[in-house]
Amino acid sequence: MSNDRSLTRTDERYQAMLQALKQANLRLTPQRMAICRYLSRTRSHPTPNDIFHAVHEQFPTISRATVYNTVAVLKDLGEIIELSCTGGASVRYETELTPHVNLNCTRCGRIYDFPMEKINEIFETIDSRTDFQLENIHIKGYGICPICQKELEQEEASA
Ligand SMILES: [Zn+2]
Repeated sequence: MSNDRSLTRTDERYQAMLQALKQANLRLTPQRMAICRYLSRTRSHPTPNDIFHAVHEQFPTISRATVYNTVAVLKDLGEIIELSCTGGASVRYETELTPHVNLNCTRCGRIYDFPMEKINEIFETIDSRTDFQLENIHIKGYGICPICQKELEQEEASA
């Protein structure tokens, strides 16, 4: 059941991204559609380079410019959100638009999603008690991810 629901949600996000490209008068080429398909499915908070490599596997002739321009349009129209982040990469993209917590690893820069019901309560409280037209809430946690913890343990063990 939960599988069906996430499929529907993924498809909704995919369709919304295609609409955004149309709205920006971009032609829906197979390459651009592949970018949207990847972004609607991933939960990895990809870097621009990650997105390029994911689509490049399917379309070896695609240019970085096409990927980056398409991503920029999706960002401008609010279909994905640019995240400043710690660690290696300078920019990552949030593809999940429902309020949740992002757990940021300060060592490698990976970002993990943590869904939290309470955020919806915070959202509704602010929305109902202020005149602010609230669109989203981002909560970030910082720390060391499980992969880095393991690597640090191994480094310590071999030192
Ligand atoms: Zn890490």
